[in-house]
Amino acid sequence: MLPVKKMSKTRTRTRRAHHALQPVNLCACPKCGKPKRPHAACGVCGYASGKVLLPVGDKEA
Ligand SMILES: [Zn+2]
Repeated sequence: MLPVKKMSKTRTRTRRAHHALQPVNLCACPKCGKPKRPHAACGVCGYASGKVLLPVGDKEA
């Protein structure tokens, strides 16, 4: 199938006006204070939602 009508440059560009990426939201980790994404485990200490979820640092090394 082909498009019935040619889409105008303005219509294409108007649609793509919403495609810009938003900056990543950061909040402070409650345990170590480093910036982290909300609802995600902290990359520094592995802490999220009341407990340590990720093994970070000293266990492997
Ligand atoms: Zn942390």
